[in-house]
Amino acid sequence: MNILLLGSGGRECAFAWKISQSAQCDTLFIAPGNAGTSAYGKNVNLNPNDFEAIKAFALKENIGLLVVGPEEPLVNGVHDFFSNDEALAHIPVIGPKKEGAILEGSKDFSKQFMERHGIPTAKSRSFTNENLDEGLAYLQNHALPVVLKADGLAAGKGVLIIDNTAEAQEELKLMLGGKFGSAGATVVIEEFLTGIELSVFVLTDGKNYVILPEAKDYKRIGQGDTGLNTGGMGSVSPVPFANEAFLADIKNSIIQPTIDGLLKDQIDYTGFIFFGLIKVGDKPYVIEYNCRMGDPETESVIPRIESDLVELFMASANKQLGSYQLAISAKNAATVMIVAGGYPGPYEKGKVIAGLENLRDSHAFHAGTLLEGGQVKTNGGRVLAITSVQDSQFNALQCATADAARIYFDGKYFREDIGFDLM
Ligand code: ATP
Repeated sequence: MNILLLGSGGRECAFAWKISQSAQCDTLFIAPGNAGTSAYGKNVNLNPNDFEAIKAFALKENIGLLVVGPEEPLVNGVHDFFSNDEALAHIPVIGPKKEGAILEGSKDFSKQFMERHGIPTAKSRSFTNENLDEGLAYLQNHALPVVLKADGLAAGKGVLIIDNTAEAQEELKLMLGGKFGSAGATVVIEEFLTGIELSVFVLTDGKNYVILPEAKDYKRIGQGDTGLNTGGMGSVSPVPFANEAFLADIKNSIIQPTIDGLLKDQIDYTGFIFFGLIKVGDKPYVIEYNCRMGDPETESVIPRIESDLVELFMASANKQLGSYQLAISAKNAATVMIVAGGYPGPYEKGKVIAGLENLRDSHAFHAGTLLEGGQVKTNGGRVLAITSVQDSQFNALQCATADAARIYFDGKYFREDIGFDLM
């Protein structure tokens, strides 16, 4: 079977690496991919949001499976586009339709969904310009810190945690005034939860699901999880504090009610659900849903999956996940992200990357890289995910961190403390 994978990050590189190992995969195409994905398939210069171009390519190359990495094409309706087109409708799509992707695409929707189905989450209320005054009054009496969230996709920047009432009121006005464009036309005001975060992923066929290995990511740029938020500076899997009882609690109080809720609401959901969770005391709460895998969590999760990924995808497409047994390695994975100098602020691209051949105990999943004139160059803020899989978490962390130091490019930066706080 020929497979088309949409996306160009470290997540897609990890998918490409694993898909290419499947006996069921004839040719893998990655659109647009990066310097690393070209080792596992053919990169094609297609924009994941240009559905007409994807259609022409899928028909020309006889694509038998579409795997969607990022959220944007899903929220824009790539799955609907395939289902509604006679020539494409036979091609299974891994990723939900628009009506399911809204779990990520609208925080207001997802909060109402959780409330409706009794899924534990922070208490919240949503406001628009129409009831701005009510929103300001609501903030006046709200405990601090308070969380303000733009309803729509805002490239990870639409969430503000504020510990001053007047400032929160000012921000509410700015957000509803267009600070985040239409993404902020509705703002969710949410209670702040104190705890430790983790990510849990399932793949569902709409009724049944398999739970993938859980992971923890590190969002801040600086050592000790300080400084600005980023797309993610590293990850570990498994997560030491997520013991069997806690994972069972997540399944019973969050995963199952979410799948049941989708069924009840008649939302036909196939694809990944990413549960962004926080452990408060010993209880899990949902911070957010995403309709795709996380990055850099995927780089630690995928290497722990022993099952054939294409078989798993096809079982999902054929609605056979009920009898599917996922094989997961007991080993520990750690990922250290190497980023460009200046990231998450302005940074330069086009720096030559050296030392990729020097890695000893890790694998490099490429993120923002580009092949140019036979050289691998930087092409984004997050450049390489260095992942190591070892018998102990300490070894995995040590190997990934030591190997990250063996890569060189001008301005390179990585955190040396990923995961060590959990030891
Ligand atoms: P992402 O970058 O993960 O896509 P996002 O912009 O979709 O993020 P959220 O995940 O909802 O937004 O929030 C971003 C981060 O803000 C969370 O990972 C968490 O650290 C923090 N956060 C969000 N809501 C809360 C809350 N209610 N209590 C405490 N922290 C929160």
